[in-house]
Amino acid sequence: MPPIARVEPLTTARALRGPFDYRLPEAMAGAGVGTLLAVPFAGRELLGVIVELAETSEVPPEKLAEPRAVVEPAIPAELVELARWIAAEYCSTVSRALQLVLPPGAGRGVAPRVRVRSVLVAEIADAGRAALTDGARLTDAQRAVLTRLAAEGPLPAAASGTPHGSLRRLADRGLLVLERREQRRRPVTRAVGARAAHAPPLTAEQTAALGPILTALADDRHSEHPNGAHNAGHPAAARFLLHGVTGSGKTEVYLQAAAAALAAGRSVLVLVPEIALAPQTVARFQARFGDTVAVLHSQLGQGERYDEWLQLQRGEARIAVGPRSAVFAPLADLGLVIVDEEHESAYKHEGDPRYDARRVAAYRAQQAGAVLLAGSATPRPESVHALTRIRLTQRVDGRPLPPIEVLDMRDARHPLHPTTREALGDVQRAGHKAIVLVNRRGWSNFLTCRSCGHVWSCPQCDVALVLHQREGALACHHCGHRERIPTTCTACGSSSVARHGAGTERIETELLDALGDPGFPILRLDADTARAGKGAVARVLERFDAAPAGVLVGTQMVAKGHDFPDVTLGVVLDADQTLRFPDFRAEERTFALVAQLAGRAGRGGNGNGRVLVQTLSPDAPSIAAASRHDADGFLTGELARRQALSYPPFASLIRVTCSAEEAADAAAAAQAVGERISAPGAMVLGPAPLFRLRGRERSQLVIKAPQRRAAVASVAAAVDAVARTAVGRRAQLSADVDPQ
Ligand code: ADP
Ligand code: ZN
Ligand code: ZN
Repeated sequence: MPPIARVEPLTTARALRGPFDYRLPEAMAGAGVGTLLAVPFAGRELLGVIVELAETSEVPPEKLAEPRAVVEPAIPAELVELARWIAAEYCSTVSRALQLVLPPGAGRGVAPRVRVRSVLVAEIADAGRAALTDGARLTDAQRAVLTRLAAEGPLPAAASGTPHGSLRRLADRGLLVLERREQRRRPVTRAVGARAAHAPPLTAEQTAALGPILTALADDRHSEHPNGAHNAGHPAAARFLLHGVTGSGKTEVYLQAAAAALAAGRSVLVLVPEIALAPQTVARFQARFGDTVAVLHSQLGQGERYDEWLQLQRGEARIAVGPRSAVFAPLADLGLVIVDEEHESAYKHEGDPRYDARRVAAYRAQQAGAVLLAGSATPRPESVHALTRIRLTQRVDGRPLPPIEVLDMRDARHPLHPTTREALGDVQRAGHKAIVLVNRRGWSNFLTCRSCGHVWSCPQCDVALVLHQREGALACHHCGHRERIPTTCTACGSSSVARHGAGTERIETELLDALGDPGFPILRLDADTARAGKGAVARVLERFDAAPAGVLVGTQMVAKGHDFPDVTLGVVLDADQTLRFPDFRAEERTFALVAQLAGRAGRGGNGNGRVLVQTLSPDAPSIAAASRHDADGFLTGELARRQALSYPPFASLIRVTCSAEEAADAAAAAQAVGERISAPGAMVLGPAPLFRLRGRERSQLVIKAPQRRAAVASVAAAVDAVARTAVGRRAQLSADVDPQ
């Protein structure tokens, strides 16, 4: 009896739920879980993934179809299991989740569209070596090329400096071998100041931090499960949170933990929030571990990504580094999973499935019996609650953290406080560098009419339009809608238009007028910079790094992981902007923003660092705690607050968003979902209207539940059921587990 393959066809249609049974012919006997197949499906040919093998099928034998072909390469079986878990965990479908773990290039067509690149390589044969010494008949040119191949090893034919015909004649005489060989397209990572390849001796604190990690790595649970076939009920391996102030040498701890995992024959997964903003971390792994590092990220060409993926899948590379999608790297024998800057919301994916790479990373670690090591200077309260915390309290260079001054802006008339202007002047005179963080890109936050109060807002989204002076446009930051800057009010015709608030562009201009000169560049970094093209962000960071002095002004991007040694001043404008969002993470975000920016100031150099925080809410707990560098005080207060209000980590949140042409349909769909939810202790909040987005009316429900599994299952069932009703068909429904 030939085995049955249960195949999940790769389609995005939610209604179509596999798996479907196919009969495996003799020729496909080697197929297993994770094998990709081209299968006949409803009169078409689709790519599918084997999710199970079985002996029997409920489908009568004469109705069972056979797959058309096996498509290489296969997905590791562990990733198929991971995809099934993601589908259940994030209210998605197995088919959509499987698309996340496919080899790059596969999925849309039937076969991966990328092929391994091969080049013609010439390598000297034993007879060729002999010919060089035994006086065989060789022309000067022939002797030259053989001598070169003997000295340098195999060379691409095109690089040998010898015409193809001559090489072919030498090959025909058996003096060299000429054949096509695979070539790996190596991505180039541009790094701002990559550090030395050698491991420095650790500080006492680093040594103490590494201790429990090494112990956990040595505790070889893995040997009990020789095939990497761990069940999910496996006792949780060690899970650590490396909570270390910026500059405390967390990356060095990651590197040495990774070295230990490799030495134990295990592989390593390293997640970073965003490659463009943290090229240094990637570069340091590459410098330390060379070719055993594969980098996976979307800025690579598809060919490069495919090559990196294949290196990992074959075990030729043993460390995968990349942003959230790298959590699906095909690593076998995973021993260590590192999540750098674990507080970053970039780990949350906003497409379906709306997975959180931090949670997926933790699941993978558990699946493989690997050690989880998350790190941050400003960890999430959730992680502090759930993981074993290891502290690094000192900067490696022994310098204190810079003092943080809070500047009350309640009476200010100018976007820059007098103290800020003075401090920036000092930086310029001293020839140092400053970083200025503005929470909003563009020129001003919104425009109003002074006569009638009209607010310019997006015709599609019901949010205020932001002025972009240089571009000469008002822009919607949600849908990209753009219109000309108005000179008169569209409502009353008045020509008196007021501009409110200051964005990056306006501050950049202020600074240029006040301080800019050729020796003191003012550089801007925000989403508009990023839109200027691939590598634009890296170029701005490189210019700031290379400049002897100057100011980097921008959005939160300026406070991410880069490390510029000569920054002596950090400024946060409008620090409470994040607090004005109605979001339970507002305090956490604000604390992280100030503390992260403080971490960029006063590293190295001899000027002492200084941080200024301009705010309308000088007494907010997050701002007050950040100004004292009091992470523990903040975390304790924040966890207590969340417990009192049943927020994560004491409950899970699930958000259901319904959108429709008509507001009534969106609300009715949300109402219907809410009525169907039943899970122990679950609270259903809403439906509440959301602002219109891209021309669609929206309504949302938030479910707060102490028992996550039951709540997710109930929401998934409710969404599916409502989607099939009349009101559901007029709306689009999406569920977001752990919304950010
Ligand atoms: P973090 O990741 O905590 O911000 P890093 O790992 O980037 O800190 O370390 C800060 C700086 O200190 C880096 O330049 C790094 O190369 C250096 N460093 C880290 N550990 C050591 C050490 N043990 N000895 C010397 N320099 C170190
Ligand atoms: Zn008006
Ligand atoms: Zn819009």
